[in-house]
Amino acid sequence: MAKPSARPAQPAAACRVCGGTVSAFLDLGRQPLSDAFRKPDETAQEFSFPLVVGNCRDCSMTQLLHEVPRERMFHAEYPYRSSGSTTMTAHFTAVAERFLAHELGGADPFIVEIGSNDGVMLRTVAAAGVRHLGVDPSSGVGLTAQHGGVRVRDDFFQESTARDIAATEGRADVIYAANTFCHIPYVDSIFAGIDALLRPDGIFVFEDPYIGDILDRRSFDQIYDEHFYFFSATSVRAMARNFGFELVDVERLEVHGGEVRYTLARPGRRRADARVAALLDAEAHRGLAGPEPYERFAREVYAIREDLRTLLTGLREQGVRVVGYGATAKSATVNNFCGIGPDLVETVYDTTPEKQGRLTPGTHIPVAPMAGFRADPAPYALLYAWNHETEILAKESAFREAGGRWIRYVPEVRVD
Ligand SMILES: [Zn+2]
Repeated sequence: MAKPSARPAQPAAACRVCGGTVSAFLDLGRQPLSDAFRKPDETAQEFSFPLVVGNCRDCSMTQLLHEVPRERMFHAEYPYRSSGSTTMTAHFTAVAERFLAHELGGADPFIVEIGSNDGVMLRTVAAAGVRHLGVDPSSGVGLTAQHGGVRVRDDFFQESTARDIAATEGRADVIYAANTFCHIPYVDSIFAGIDALLRPDGIFVFEDPYIGDILDRRSFDQIYDEHFYFFSATSVRAMARNFGFELVDVERLEVHGGEVRYTLARPGRRRADARVAALLDAEAHRGLAGPEPYERFAREVYAIREDLRTLLTGLREQGVRVVGYGATAKSATVNNFCGIGPDLVETVYDTTPEKQGRLTPGTHIPVAPMAGFRADPAPYALLYAWNHETEILAKESAFREAGGRWIRYVPEVRVD
């Protein structure tokens, strides 16, 4: 468990967007890969890295100070499925329908998705007979996409990939990325690729966790290996300008604990929606370009760790069973930062077959199929998958009715 520290291991680094100075504000300690669910008999040394997050004094981009090699995270066995919940499936179907209605109505339209995962968005485009291509290095999820009629290139999106696609398939009307762009530290290559691949009037649309929501909800578990950047309208506008684009629209989204969908276009090609200025004003008002909101967030996060450990160790001392709900990627941050192992949470229940029978990254709590949550109910359940809370509480109403209590840890530790 990392010691609370106002002075992280590495206090500063160079900004991956503008080259300015990134000052650390929160040290979440050494962390494993968030998706490294090991078999119980695997004894090899587990990969770990320092999870430290900071903010650029120049362009205000919030980012990690240490980069995990991409091949360690995104590969054939990448377990996350975008279509894993009905809420997310409906969300991506709506995105596709909007692109089809407003952006893909011209002659021979073409859309490219960076990180197409299991094809949850593109399968609606494919069903409409519109030209599309998903680019994703995680071939396991890519196979699922192809079974849904989606064309996928098993590759990392970068400048060389984009140039190759433009040369062989022509330019795209829309380049889209959901919960992917924030994964990619090398934004210079991404923007060079977008510039090569996008039609002059085309748009680059991406949606990722919003730093404003992370600060408000104290959702420190959004910080893990895969999430390299934490965008704001202020930092995205600076980044876009740095690479020859303009921020022309922003939309707040409720999915994944609070996200923003950003739309970029080439300068002068699209009129900026009034929502851009409104969000920039709101961010200026709360001081998102300065250090204060981030330093306050760090203090709140260290307090959550104290409270959660006090609660769980108290329950253990009383011999009360606690289980976990949802072996999410972000639960790795909670478990490793707060020192939660099988002594405090006996089992984590999850619907993903690839995770079942394995151990959680770093702290090695057994992961079991969701059926066990109902068959052998514990009095307390730690809700790791809080971003799907509404769906889960409705689905698991019997747990609460039988006297079970949910433990949440964001925005604060509470039991109900
Ligand atoms: Zn910067």
